[in-house]
Amino acid sequence: MSDEIRMQDIVEMRKKHPCGSSIWTVTRIGADIKMKCSGCGRVVMLDRQEFLRRRKRVLTPGPFSPEITLGLMPHTTKENGDD
Ligand SMILES: [Zn+2]
Repeated sequence: MSDEIRMQDIVEMRKKHPCGSSIWTVTRIGADIKMKCSGCGRVVMLDRQEFLRRRKRVLTPGPFSPEITLGLMPHTTKENGDD
């Protein structure tokens, strides 16, 4: 698992939200990561390290968008040949 964070990533967190859901959608990437709970719609902000620490896995990666991943990706090679 890399430390990649993308807009619209669907992620599972280690701890369940009080609403019972552990699935979140990344809605903003900056100095802090903003994500929205899929269960109750609550939006929370975590700093990047905290986010990565709490993230269990990425269920569905968001679309590739280098300008909004803030250079987290060291190269621009696409993984699946088709464009
Ligand atoms: Zn919730």
